[in-house]
Amino acid sequence: MIGKIAKIATSFIDVPDEIAVAIYFAGCSIRCKGCQNPELLDSKSGKEMTIEEVLAKTSNHPLAKYVVFLGGEPTDQMDFLIELCRKLKNLKKAMYTGREFENLPLSLTTLLDYVVCGPYRIDLSTGGRIASSNQREFRKENGIWNCLRA
Ligand code: SF4
Repeated sequence: MIGKIAKIATSFIDVPDEIAVAIYFAGCSIRCKGCQNPELLDSKSGKEMTIEEVLAKTSNHPLAKYVVFLGGEPTDQMDFLIELCRKLKNLKKAMYTGREFENLPLSLTTLLDYVVCGPYRIDLSTGGRIASSNQREFRKENGIWNCLRA
């Protein structure tokens, strides 16, 4: 299976109090006004990678306890994203998405541990990690999703 990936890098800021491997998906169909990552809107901003190639690059970050999917829009490549989650057995999984939590399939959320969701709204911009105040934050604890930021 092939995905379009723009960048894989260590992240110290995307998952609170955790070191993560950030996997930036290329391309986004949501197109929020004032998008925070406009250089990743076009899927051509990434290169084609197999699941195995992404796994190999991810394993170069031994201090990471999490992998975080962002972009671009990870859920635009849903089959690749789910397959990647299934294969990343030793890392907890976080995601930033422009879609609302309720619209994410169970086949994905069952594999995730932390989600920031909702479209970016320039009129509600925060300048912070969670880019606009309409976006919500969810964390799974003991198998149950809790909304930390409604
Ligand atoms: S969902 Fe994210 S990447 Fe897509 S347009 Fe909105 S801010 Fe940009």
